[in-house]
This record gives sequence, structure tokens and C-alpha cells, in this order.
Amino acid sequence: MKTDTVDPTRLTIEALTAAYASGTTTATATTRAYLDGIDARDEQVGAYLSVTRDAALAAAGASDDRWRRGAPKGPLDGVPLAIKDVLCTRGVATTCGSRILERFVPPYDATVVARLHDAGAVLLGKTNMDEFAMGSSTEHSAFRPTRNPWDLTRVPGGSSGGSAAAVAATMAAGALGTDTGGSIRQPAAFCGVVGLKPTYGRVSRYGLVAFASSLDQVGPLTWQVRDAALLLQVIAGRDPCDATSLDAPVPDFGVGLDRPIRGMKIGVPDEYFTEGMDAEIEATVRTAIDVLAREGAEIRPVSLPTSTYGLAAYYIIAPAEASSNLARYDGVKYGLRAPGGRDIIDMYSRTRAAGFGAEVKRRIMLGTYVLSAGYYEAYYGKAQKVRTLVRNEFARAFETVDVMVGPMTPNVAFKHGEKEDPIAMYMNDVFAVPANLAGLPALSLPCGFSRDGLPIGLQLVGKVLDEATLLRVAYAYEQATDWHARRPTVTFT
Ligand code: GLN
Repeated sequence: MKTDTVDPTRLTIEALTAAYASGTTTATATTRAYLDGIDARDEQVGAYLSVTRDAALAAAGASDDRWRRGAPKGPLDGVPLAIKDVLCTRGVATTCGSRILERFVPPYDATVVARLHDAGAVLLGKTNMDEFAMGSSTEHSAFRPTRNPWDLTRVPGGSSGGSAAAVAATMAAGALGTDTGGSIRQPAAFCGVVGLKPTYGRVSRYGLVAFASSLDQVGPLTWQVRDAALLLQVIAGRDPCDATSLDAPVPDFGVGLDRPIRGMKIGVPDEYFTEGMDAEIEATVRTAIDVLAREGAEIRPVSLPTSTYGLAAYYIIAPAEASSNLARYDGVKYGLRAPGGRDIIDMYSRTRAAGFGAEVKRRIMLGTYVLSAGYYEAYYGKAQKVRTLVRNEFARAFETVDVMVGPMTPNVAFKHGEKEDPIAMYMNDVFAVPANLAGLPALSLPCGFSRDGLPIGLQLVGKVLDEATLLRVAYAYEQATDWHARRPTVTFT
């Protein structure tokens, strides 16, 4: 095959590196093709906050040398990826979608970024996000909103909306996002891609700018399940720089991916099919569960009554941790310092007033309130108790099932500006947050489309450190269906 007959941006990561190995395309040609895609489409989509063109082409050239010598660094060598702008990149601005970090250039790489570099991956740039990862629509980015490649009038989800849109619009072969309360999985669902939040502690948070430290986790967004396994393989594992990273063996996630799921016990939580949920989503998800049953899985109802309170607990715990984490933006240590302060307190106030957007301020105020003396027990203390109940309930349910399945979101991608009421925005996370509260791995993958042609996501939740089973079930579903083959048909002008 001649090089110019292959469109490398249509290949899965696995097929892409096979093409490098056989010489049908190169990392340089592929990187150029993705950069061209960004030039052609990103003005409308807004997936990237910065594109590191020269560094990407240099990395691609180095990768081509390795492939030519028959000595690639592994299955990600030369693969063009996008990185959420909440992950530190040495010498490349890391804004977290915030004015307060607009000019922050980290002196070091996040561990996940370093691991991708070590694996030979090509980093195309940094992706747009809700400011400090707070939001579900990427409308809270201080710079510009990201638009959904399936329908530009709609949101891509959030907070990793830029990463999801970059993959969906063929502007990266894969991406990293972060998930504190759904921010990988919900945008994956809205954009029709695969998104995986690993077990809390599976992946290092070193160099991930903290939102809610007990919930934050980095994970991949890709077209297909096997690609997610490849990315997870590289970023997972103990990191001495992150004391909360788990010292657990990392299995080979590719091995056994195609094992049949016959006899596997799959739980369907009653509480994930709530009254008033979108009828199309319910029907689509139930059909997907039937597919898993046809593949030989044993479908069982399970009950997670406390997960109904998960959302309320999350929106106390996450802001509480955020209010503490964001105290460091004081105009001294990082980024912006507003001029004209009369004294240090005045300088702090002016800097934080100018540097943070409305949603971040709302979270800081809420978090400070629930942690304050006199209210701590009533709010934060109670929320922690709910969190324990949610975790125990999952543990009990996992005594009888291997994995759980349900909808990822209560609705498909909504219109820009549709959810101006913060509570309406928060409600979007109702099915996402329980897995974060319990620290469990969870994945979203495409399972169909609404009448309007918008993607619908199927959520799988697994046992602690059992990403392998999640990936295996997701892969079985993917093989049995062809949703993953669809691409947005929006014409970009
Ligand atoms: N949408 C949720 C929030 O706004 C989750 C965000 C996230 O996972 N980073 O907090």
C-alpha cells in the first residue's frame, strides 16, 4: 500500500502503530494529518487551548527514526495524543481553563505526561476544560466554550470536554482527561467516544492540578476500547511522587480483552433507572443490556439505595476539598497577581476576584461554608458518612456481581446556555458521582444515538482495581455492535 492511500486519522491506535511497523504510514505524516485536522476544524470546535505543533513534529520525527530502526518504545510510539490542560507539561502553559493560571508554565511534567513521553507518544497540545475541572459542559472555561462535534449548537460535556471533542472530531488519536465526578465519562458519552476513569489510586495524580484530591483521577478517552486499554497500560501504576497511588501490580490490559463474557454476572442497579429519565436513553441502555445478555452474561438486578444521596454528598465533599486546594492561588505562588492592592489581604482579594470565574467562586464559598465551625458536622461530616454508606453498598453488591451496568447520563448533550441554573448542571452528574465517591473504576462507551443523532453512553462500574473486567465487558459489547464505527457528520465550514 502506498503511504498516500492511508488516512491515518481514521485508524485505531492499534492499527496506526501496525501501519508504522509495516511502513504504510509514518508518525510524521500522521501528526501532520492531525494538525491539519486541528487547523480545519478547531476554530469551530474549540477543543484545544494550545497546540504544540513544533514539539509534536519533532517528537514524531524521533519516533519515525525508532520505527525505522525496528526499535519502537512500545504500542504508543508515535501516536498523537491530546492532554487536558489540568495536567502539568514542562515548558508548556497549563491554564486549567482559568485566568488565574493563564501565564503559568510548569517547570515539570505530570507523571502521566512523563510516562507518555517515555512511551514515545506525540503530544499535540492541551485541551479545553471547565475552569479547574468544575462543570459538566466546558462552558465554564475562562477562554472559550468547546462545541460538540456531533452538533455544534450543543455542549461536549465536561469538564474534559476538549479532550472528548478532540477525539470525536478526529483531532487526536486519543486523549487524557480527569474525572472527579464524571468528567471523563460524561463528555465521552456526549461525544460518542470511550472514556475510562480508573480506580482511585491506580494512576498517579502527581502534576495533576488538584480539584478534589480524594476524588480526582486521570484516565483515557479514545475511539475504541482496546485503545483505552493501551493508554491505561502506560499511565497506570505506583508513583513514588504520589503517596495515594496504589502499590498494586498492573495487569496486561490487552490480554484477555477478547475473552467471552459468558457466565459473567452483570448487575443492573434499580436506582439508575429513575423516574423522569429520558425515555430514549432508558430504551437504548436496556437494549444494550440485552446485547450483553445475548453474549451470555447473567443479568441481575441490584440495589444501591444510598446512591440517590450520592450527588448531594459529592456537591459538599468536592467543593470542600476545592476550597482548600484553591487557597494556593494567592497572587504570590502562581500565575496572576492583580495590580493595585493596598496591602497583602487586598492583593489576595483583588487577585482572586479577577482570576476566578463564577462557578469556581461558587464552589469556594460553598466549600468554605460546609467546612466552617458550627456547620462542619451538619454538612461535611454528614456527607462523609453518606460516602461511607455508598462505598459499603457497592462492596455488598459486588459480592454477587462482577460488574454493574447502567446509563451514563440522564440526558443527551444539551444546548449551550441551556443549563444556566447551577443545580440543573449538577443534576447531570447523578449517575457519574457514585463511582468517584466509592473510588471504583468506571467506563462509558457509545451504545446508540438519540432521534436527533446524538450519542448515548453506557456506563460500566467495576470492582476496585478491576479495570480489566470493565474493559473486557466493554470490548465484548463493542464487538457485538457497530456504534463505535460512527463518526460525526457535521460539516465544518
Ligand atoms: N461535573 C462535576 C463537577 O462539576 C464533575 C467534574 C469533574 O469530574 N472534574 O464537579
